[in-house]
Amino acid sequence: MDQRPSGRRSALLVGVAIVAVAFFAQLYFSHSDSQPVVVRQDRILMGTVWSLQVVPSGQPHDATEQTLDQAFAEVSRIDRLMSEWKPESPLSAINAAAGTGGIEVPAELVDIIRRGIRYGDLTDGAFDITWLGMGKLWHFDQAFTPPSESQVMEARSRVDYRKIRIDGNHVSIPAGWKIGLGGIAKGYAIDRAADKLREAGFRNFLVNGGGDVLVVGRKGEHDWTVGVRDPRGGPQDLVARVRTDGAVVTSGDYERFRIVDGVRYHHIIDPRTGRPARLCRSVTIVADQAERADVLATSVFVLGPTRGLQLVSTLPHVEAFIIDSSGKRWMSEGFQRIAEFASE
Ligand code: ADP
Ligand code: MG
Repeated sequence: MDQRPSGRRSALLVGVAIVAVAFFAQLYFSHSDSQPVVVRQDRILMGTVWSLQVVPSGQPHDATEQTLDQAFAEVSRIDRLMSEWKPESPLSAINAAAGTGGIEVPAELVDIIRRGIRYGDLTDGAFDITWLGMGKLWHFDQAFTPPSESQVMEARSRVDYRKIRIDGNHVSIPAGWKIGLGGIAKGYAIDRAADKLREAGFRNFLVNGGGDVLVVGRKGEHDWTVGVRDPRGGPQDLVARVRTDGAVVTSGDYERFRIVDGVRYHHIIDPRTGRPARLCRSVTIVADQAERADVLATSVFVLGPTRGLQLVSTLPHVEAFIIDSSGKRWMSEGFQRIAEFASE
């Protein structure tokens, strides 16, 4: 996942951490009584900022804070299980055992790998959890230089999710291959954090994992709204606002990238070419679950607007909003009904 040991990234995170601490103590009280309208906590997890906002419905404040702690603990637990950056994670153990006949791992990890494989089938291979076999080629640290065509072709020969072998809880991959769950695990973690909030009786809340958002119910008198960023603007420049009860997840080419000789290299890889996908700047997916939205945002980004919207039209309760590589906007029919747009 996203635990990248980059100097610039750590500096950024320290800055964000300071902002997060400022938010930490912030409660939003209504004018009339002492029950907070929203209790919010922010933390840095999976290499990004997570924010939970809940609207208490009678729960004592201490209990609310405890529930938020449990929801964050769930995110950390999933990260420890599925991070490709933590050498001690069971996912790293699968990668370390590549070519040796595989190993036994916890059922929860096997389940998400199985779902990852199914998403590969659903998206005609646009989503491929073995993308990490391309390894360091698309690692955007200071040392990044665009790889040669032969390097890309050689690395791409280690990408094909259909080569993952699962037998019970035993998972094996060919020598030199790697599984990376960065396109699915954050969405899964959002869904599981939401479960913790639901189990504690909360019916109105928001879970934000680094900009991927799940909203449930309402924020007091108002609907929750989720902003969609302008992929070529600043973090505050929005092109749309989505009003929904569900997940809103965006994949963009502006999150992690390098521009070399005018070409933008970013972190969403087209498994067919072995190179960063070229057809979109950003894809926003609305779905009932964050995991589904997370996977589809990456997949539609790879497929491009025409094939992407075609796929989305076959899936119930899924909407899409796409800004293609020329800046043109595309959307599914249902998206118009749940969004307000800023003028172009
Ligand atoms: P994030 O939410 O982390 O900013 P995205 O949701 O856009 O990013 O997903 C991109 C991440 O998914 C990459 O960082 C990488 O971990 C993984 N990934 C990249 N290309 C693919 C692909 N074709 N299939 C599956 N996972 C991918
Ligand atoms: Mg994502």
